[in-house]
Amino acid sequence: MKTFVKATALLKRKLGARVVRTDAAARREASFDSSKILFSTEAVICPRTEADVGVVLVLANRFRVPVTTRGRGTTLTGGAAPVQGGWVLDMLALDKITIDEDAGMAHVQSGAKVGDLQRAAEAKGWFYPPDPSSKEYCTIGGNIACNAGGMHGGKYGVTRDFVVALRGFLPTGEYVEWGTATKKFSAGFNMRDLWIGSEGMLGVVTGAVLKLIPQPAERWTLLTSFCDEPAALRAALALFRARVQPAICEFLDRESVLCAERAMQTTIFPGQAGRPVILLELAGSKSEVREQRAGLLAWAAAHAVGHRVARTRAEAEQLWAVRRKCSGAMFELGDAKLNEDVVLPMRSYVKFAQFLGQLKRESGLHVPTFGHLADGNLHVNIMYHRADPKETRAAEQAVQRLMETVVALGGAISGEHGIGLAKTPFLRIQHSPAQIRAMQAVKHALDPRGVLNPGKMFDVFHVWKHPRMDVHLPWDHK
Ligand SMILES: Cc1cc2nc3c(=O)[nH]c(=O)nc-3n(C[C@H](O)[C@H](O)[C@H](O)COP(=O)(O)OP(=O)(O)OC[C@H]3O[C@@H](n4cnc5c(N)ncnc54)[C@H](O)[C@@H]3O)c2cc1C
Repeated sequence: MKTFVKATALLKRKLGARVVRTDAAARREASFDSSKILFSTEAVICPRTEADVGVVLVLANRFRVPVTTRGRGTTLTGGAAPVQGGWVLDMLALDKITIDEDAGMAHVQSGAKVGDLQRAAEAKGWFYPPDPSSKEYCTIGGNIACNAGGMHGGKYGVTRDFVVALRGFLPTGEYVEWGTATKKFSAGFNMRDLWIGSEGMLGVVTGAVLKLIPQPAERWTLLTSFCDEPAALRAALALFRARVQPAICEFLDRESVLCAERAMQTTIFPGQAGRPVILLELAGSKSEVREQRAGLLAWAAAHAVGHRVARTRAEAEQLWAVRRKCSGAMFELGDAKLNEDVVLPMRSYVKFAQFLGQLKRESGLHVPTFGHLADGNLHVNIMYHRADPKETRAAEQAVQRLMETVVALGGAISGEHGIGLAKTPFLRIQHSPAQIRAMQAVKHALDPRGVLNPGKMFDVFHVWKHPRMDVHLPWDHK
């Protein structure tokens, strides 16, 4: 502890008290993320220049101070929480965005918000598709570290598919650039892709070059309803088999729809309350959308029990409100939510829907589920009341069964949120000992003193046993 105090004082002398904050308010805010698991931190460092990051890491290595990099702290896994104390590196002030109109690329500092990047690109006729629901809060650095996805993932891909080059600092404090602002790069190991999805454990991203695509000229929205979940998922398979590629293909099960309908005080399809739905958007050139629209309407007539076309942008917004409302509205079913972002191969969709039915019956819990059908990323929300020990225990068992089943069906325990602390008990379900050893060897090679985001991913952490903050965050219930 004494060493931390000495290191912090030295860092303050080098970077100044405006950059190195030790006041209680700053330290409290940085001691938890959206998982709300509470820790403590010695200092919060808010770099004003990218070079400041190198200074922090060099000192951290010298004094062995743990450093946790933080974007906006919207991660739900505990990945940005300072589990071993030390310093929190708050990247929000590094938020510059420049659009290279000719190249169709964005040059972005890691603290820039995703929503701001999308608007800057749109103003120049370009489109940055990765769109996590948290995009008005979360940062590009956080998205790169978690390989964030969103509703557009099925057609356009996730963050990884848009990263051209990265720059930043190794855990040792050495400056590195992975790639150049060019469309091709085959010179040496692809360290850029190793950093993407590494959850802030292999380096600190300070800047990125991101690919943009032209804004789609036309968008068209369709809402379809089905008699039950297996029917909806079977219909989705028929859609993909017919080679129709919607830009968005969102599924909401019966419980999710009921929550949204109650929150909106309306029934989506009159007389059909609580039917599972698939909400689709086509996007592209006018002719592309026209062609796919015919295919989509034929599919809806054959498979859905109801469908509604949005005739105007305002009508489309009304239909999307159903999807936007459902996640927050679920809190009527419990005051705590385990939002598990699992991924299933399409061939397992129907079996998985049957498993969820069984899980609900056996656990006695509400498990509303929605997600991105075009890339298999389903959000399974296990709802419970935190003060009820029986429900809490049932939720703990349900999440274990969920992870085991997902892997048995050939899927992944996380598609976009990452491991952080919350999913550490399940890493061994997904990966063999040899695979985990290989990952640990990479971590040790790049971070020999183990200073950067220690205690995550590999050390098993039991979320249930740890105190949580009772606090309302601006993005809660979104
Ligand atoms: C309401 C809500 C909706 C969400 N919806 C989605 C969704 O649709 N899709 C999705 O993918 N996620 C979603 N998330 C999860 C979360 O928003 C994403 O994981 C996001 O990428 C985190 O960004 P952040 O800036 O908040 O990063 P933080 O939460 O601060 O950090 C996340 C991880 O990234 C690391 N990190 C942050 N910045 C850097 C950097 N510059 N260099 C290296 N490592 C860094 C941290 O150490 C940590 O491990 C949602 C969360 C909430 C609360």
